[in-house]
Amino acid sequence: MPTFQPVRGMRDLLPDDAEMLTYVMSKARETAELYGYREVVTPVIEPYELLSAKSGEEIRQRMFTFKDMGDRTVALRPEFTSSIARLATTAFKNEPKPLRTLSIGSVYRYDEPQRGRYREFYQSDFEIIGTSNPEADSEIVLLTDRFMKSVGLSNYAFKLGHVGVIRGILNQANVDEKTQNAILQHMDKKEFNEAFELISSEECLTTLKGSLELKTEDVFKTAERIESHVEGYCKAAESAKELSDILKLVTEGGCPVKSVEPAFARGLEYYTGMIFEVYVPELDIALGGGGRYDKLIELFGGEPTPATGVAHGLDRIVLAMQTQKAVPAKNRRKRVAVVPVNETVKAEALRISEMLREAGIVVELEVMGRKIAKSLEDADKRKVDYAVIVGERELKQSSAMLKDLAKREQSIVAISELAKKIAG
Ligand code: AMP
Repeated sequence: MPTFQPVRGMRDLLPDDAEMLTYVMSKARETAELYGYREVVTPVIEPYELLSAKSGEEIRQRMFTFKDMGDRTVALRPEFTSSIARLATTAFKNEPKPLRTLSIGSVYRYDEPQRGRYREFYQSDFEIIGTSNPEADSEIVLLTDRFMKSVGLSNYAFKLGHVGVIRGILNQANVDEKTQNAILQHMDKKEFNEAFELISSEECLTTLKGSLELKTEDVFKTAERIESHVEGYCKAAESAKELSDILKLVTEGGCPVKSVEPAFARGLEYYTGMIFEVYVPELDIALGGGGRYDKLIELFGGEPTPATGVAHGLDRIVLAMQTQKAVPAKNRRKRVAVVPVNETVKAEALRISEMLREAGIVVELEVMGRKIAKSLEDADKRKVDYAVIVGERELKQSSAMLKDLAKREQSIVAISELAKKIAG
């Protein structure tokens, strides 16, 4: 029998990596708490129809789709927003607005595996439902900034755009929604020629091409230039104004925006308004992205409900922390190896272990029946702080031998004093 390996694109996270991931997850939860987002846990498997309704061709083709034994077509979730939109039309239908949710867990996409790109990866997803005001969009950007800071990252940047600008221009030329989606998909991949080929109106083409030239180093100036460029296009002009408003709020909130991109698009089809990405220039990868999706909940049969949100790529945040040498701030507990000298004191060793754990000390009990020397050698390798050697002689005086493994010192300590002595 050959040894088994994980399926392509799937990874085992061994303790060091798992610890980093759960640390980042804990920071996402802290961030959510600070902004009043409450966690919900939704299924990994959802109806294919729900997940595919508005996710965009790109993601639709990359979903892990299958039939369950009841002949239902289902898929592994490629993102969280559809599940939250489903909740907004069911369990949360009558909840007071705004609704703020957090989801954390694994998502699945049949992407081509490479550094920072996997087929099973982890996201934290924040959604705010029930308002179309720009302060909601700016909140999503600001909480992302706070989250990045909280894990110790410093070199990252925000990119802001608004799909309403391009859609507004295309709408005015009566480009149908399907073609608009295809155009945006191409623009997302910077395939501008392919995007332009789909447009027949000369005027529309000129405006769109012209919009690509508006970017300057100064983000406020870019936003202003977009506003005046689309002046004659009613919906696009509204969107441009909204983009300026959000930019101001985000900046006021203390988060500098690196660039405003007139031609910025994102893979997911459901976006209707502001879109953004946070990325690390040195790695050239996005750590997270999101935006406004005002039509999705209605599409799922709910009342028209505006909403905006963000998904953070937790695996990539870990990668960025490693390259930027951001070390998790750990509240390190003391670690102890408890070693019984023989069979007869096993129960006592166990009792002492539980007593120390009760005091918040990490105890690794000798469970392999090894001799003391071997056990201490192993404890050294595992970098535990102390060893407690439980022997009959010391037990008679209600004591045990405490060994400080770093200092190489040992003393006989009353069992009742052990925890205090170890905690320092
Ligand atoms: P998206 O909604 O597609 O922008 O995804 C949100 C975030 O998830 C991205 O900014 C990435 O950080 C992360 N992400 C997307 N696809 C992958 C992948 N295949 N592997 C790891 N992380 C990913």
